[in-house]
Amino acid sequence: MKKLVFLLLLLTLCLGLAACAASDPSPAPTPSEKAQAPEETPEPSDDGLPDIDPNSWQFVLVNPWNEISGDAPALENFEGVPFDARIIGSLSDFAQGARDAGYSFRAFSGYRDYATQAYLYNRKVEQVGEAKARTIVAYPGTSEHHTGLAADIADGHYELLTSELENTGLYKWMVEHCAEYGFIVRYPNGKSDVTGIIYEPWHFRYVGVEAATYIMENDLTLEEFLALYENR
Ligand SMILES: [Zn+2]
Repeated sequence: MKKLVFLLLLLTLCLGLAACAASDPSPAPTPSEKAQAPEETPEPSDDGLPDIDPNSWQFVLVNPWNEISGDAPALENFEGVPFDARIIGSLSDFAQGARDAGYSFRAFSGYRDYATQAYLYNRKVEQVGEAKARTIVAYPGTSEHHTGLAADIADGHYELLTSELENTGLYKWMVEHCAEYGFIVRYPNGKSDVTGIIYEPWHFRYVGVEAATYIMENDLTLEEFLALYENR
């Protein structure tokens, strides 16, 4: 009898264990492949160019071959220097970024009217002659400063508006970070044939973050960048 009870107990125990084993949660099923949601960002265009409107105000092209047209922009001062009011926020942020990084940042020149440009140009002609003056000071009507979108920036302590600026920490910081604020080095070294202007490491131009990022990453001038949109 005892033996039978023992066997029954054993049997119950085994069944119980088996039941437990059977009721063990089965391993989580591997998640089935979820249907991929459609991409929310639009497909980049085939040529990889930023999706910008080259006719927008921040892409106005003024150079020796393209005179300024249209009225002067609405102006606003940044630390005493006038600019197109639409870039004041970006310029202020650019200045703040440089200062936060420990550099002295000063905008020496912004919007310039025709009469002022004529004065600067004629003064340079008297100093170096007309042929050379044209490569240093833009002919009145062809200066990018007429747009109010350009800023001559240098160290506030040294006022170094020469190619020596490129050796300063400020310039190196600006080259690395200007695009984050929508600015480009407008007259890079070795691109005078394209821009018509000598290397000017102090001259920055607002074009917006998207275009500036592309231009700086690809070592382009504004002329070269805009040309990419002509045959699209
Ligand atoms: Zn300039």
